Amino acid sequence: MKKIVIVVIALLIAACQPPASNEVNLYSARKEALIKPLLDAFTAETGIQVNIISSKADALLERIESEGINSPADVLLTTDAGRLHRAKSAGVFQEISSTSLNSNIPANYRDKDNTWYGLSVRVRPIIVTNQAPSNELQRYEDLSNSAIQSQVCIRSSNNIYNQSLVASLIAASGETTVESWAEGLVSNMARAPQGGDRDQIRAAAAGQCSIVVANTYYLANMLANKDKADDYAAASKMRVIWPNQADRGAHVNVSGAGVVKSAPNRDNAVKLIEFLASDTAQKIYADVNFEYPVKPGIEINSILSQWGEFKADTLALTTLGENNAAAVKLMDRAGWK
Ligand code: FE
Repeated sequence: MKKIVIVVIALLIAACQPPASNEVNLYSARKEALIKPLLDAFTAETGIQVNIISSKADALLERIESEGINSPADVLLTTDAGRLHRAKSAGVFQEISSTSLNSNIPANYRDKDNTWYGLSVRVRPIIVTNQAPSNELQRYEDLSNSAIQSQVCIRSSNNIYNQSLVASLIAASGETTVESWAEGLVSNMARAPQGGDRDQIRAAAAGQCSIVVANTYYLANMLANKDKADDYAAASKMRVIWPNQADRGAHVNVSGAGVVKSAPNRDNAVKLIEFLASDTAQKIYADVNFEYPVKPGIEINSILSQWGEFKADTLALTTLGENNAAAVKLMDRAGWK
């Protein structure tokens, strides 16, 4: 009789436990069509359904903040360490502890407080036409050199990629030095900043300038997409210069993800991020946007390998977020529109 009572009590306790959820809500700044095959693979492996809300990066963060503790969001997937840091500073993420994430993702590519994790690496080198005086260009610092007057096309200072680049320069040489560098760069601009990274490549190919700063995946996209003949022709005229190879290395950044503080499906959220950092997912995830895998030892896309290997800056990317406000102010003072 006693045994039966114990069994009945055990069954009652089991019945009162909430069922393990089999879904996860992903707020994604990446194009749904591109990451869908990967998410389907996650579902096939784990049985966890992924519900995707896709939008622009800044809009997603605003949405999670305005939804507050009632937000259904479990995972925020977005680009740029500067943005990931903004989400962290806004209290949107929770700390997670995961041995697989810590072993798959190098320490500089994840937040030092374990709130966000890089999942793909993007590089922002100097990209030139054969009109560029390229002997003058070995380092980002050389972009302020008067020998390249009116040669540079670069997008505006309100773009996070440029803010993060400047944040990395501040980490390397301090605000005062970087401010005079920025003034020099502004005086070397061929035109007032306008358009996105692709537009800088198009302008250089059209002869408006010979030196561009842009993320490599834009160039790779243009080279991969031969149907867009004008863009393909423009990209084919360009050459990548990996900056700062004799010192700290080229400026890199990440796309990444974090678990939302109020995540209703927290365990599944961690599983999803762990899946995206796994060997099987890393190659596909990086290839989706012509980026580099964050996990060492994963094969890179053949379009990227044509530019050769490069030394990447090992700066902890949390620093890009921490220096963001200083970078924005400095660019403004230097007249970088
Ligand atoms: Fe981009």
